[in-house]
Amino acid sequence: MAMLEGERAAVTASAEAVARPQLDPRTIEAWLEQDEPVAGTISTDYLPRFTYLRPTTLAEAVAVLERHGPKAALMSGGMDLLRELKTRSRPAQPEVVVSLKGIAPPLDYVCAGESGLAIGSLATLRTLETSALVREQYGILAQAAYASRAWQYRNRATIGGDLCQRELCWYSRSSGNAYPCFRKGGEDCFATRGDNRFHAIFGRLICSAVCPSATAPSLAALGARVRIVGPSGGRSVPVEAFFTPRGTVLGSAEIVAEVQVPSPAPGARGVFLKVGVRNKFDPALASVAVLACIEQQVCRTIRIVLGGVSPQPWRAFRAEELLIGERLTESSVARAAEAVVEGATPLSHNGYKIDLARSLVGRALVRLAE
Ligand SMILES: Cc1cc2nc3c(=O)[nH]c(=O)nc-3n(C[C@H](O)[C@H](O)[C@H](O)COP(=O)(O)OP(=O)(O)OC[C@H]3O[C@@H](n4cnc5c(N)ncnc54)[C@H](O)[C@@H]3O)c2cc1C
Ligand code: SF4
Repeated sequence: MAMLEGERAAVTASAEAVARPQLDPRTIEAWLEQDEPVAGTISTDYLPRFTYLRPTTLAEAVAVLERHGPKAALMSGGMDLLRELKTRSRPAQPEVVVSLKGIAPPLDYVCAGESGLAIGSLATLRTLETSALVREQYGILAQAAYASRAWQYRNRATIGGDLCQRELCWYSRSSGNAYPCFRKGGEDCFATRGDNRFHAIFGRLICSAVCPSATAPSLAALGARVRIVGPSGGRSVPVEAFFTPRGTVLGSAEIVAEVQVPSPAPGARGVFLKVGVRNKFDPALASVAVLACIEQQVCRTIRIVLGGVSPQPWRAFRAEELLIGERLTESSVARAAEAVVEGATPLSHNGYKIDLARSLVGRALVRLAE
């Protein structure tokens, strides 16, 4: 039977009412102005208002950050920061956004220095992935950049942003302050007893979110250091020590200026592997970077670093010990892969990461032996 015009309109309207979320009755202007949005009523379509500053030196950028304190946020590629601003998911909405893009000379370089590679913090992941120097001499870094996410993001996301991005946890990143967990100044971890399928199986203290950086395992395996500038001058920390169980060592007015990677020992070979839900479109469920020197089939030195399993890049010291001085055979690889997951403490929904870590390390070692 043909539907009357009025009936069709009513059916369409009721379908829309079901399909579309309840919209906040306030106007867009009110949304733009709001400082403390109400959880669950947030528009993710509009950026809030902020003042955009573009200092021309690092010293000036540090001074601006110091002056505005928690009301300022640093921006490199903006891939993560702008999303956070749109979803109003930061503990406090920044009023000032400080871009590093106006710094002169520009921080987007990748060049060979006396003792290795120097990467300016604005170098994009695409630059790392395509640089002949990085591909030839620091292959596990190029592979990690390539596998990090879709090319649209790699074109814009920078190494500084990759290292400094906030934790990937759907509770702390929910809009407004719906889940005021430890990382947002609260007194609870919602993931521990909630949905923790993407969370850590090693090294959990207060927070179970994993280190979000795609390049950190490779940088740690290569022995890289992060050069930081801040109000009290400069300092340099190893990538492994840059991450803490609650984020990074960065102070509020500190900026990552450069990443320094020592030249690998002659003959060193590396493998990087990652598994994500949609592989490179998603963050790592687990990843592994291995760098080793193998002479006459015997493993002389080796570094095995896992990503996606701990709040920090997770170094598999025990597995490394088992392999040094050994040939990479089926049994030594199996022993090392088993040692990697010793001491894992999975949560209620992420036990699968134990199998994933074990098999990724096994596959990486087999590939190294080929
Ligand atoms: C749809 C989508 C999908 C994504 N998928 C992935 C993924 O699969 N894997 C992944 O790892 N990431 C992913 N991300 C996150 C994002 O791509 C990364 O965080 C990216 O590396 C950020 O780089 P950026 O230069 O854009 O950083 P920005 O967004 O500019 O900054 C990120 C954070 O780091 C801080 N920061 C930036 N540069 C510096 C610096 N030099 N010194 C100190 N602090 C700094 C900023 O203040 C901000 O808090 C995704 C993001 C989006 C929007
Ligand atoms: S895992 Fe960390 S970020 Fe996530 S809810 Fe717990 S404390 Fe917050």
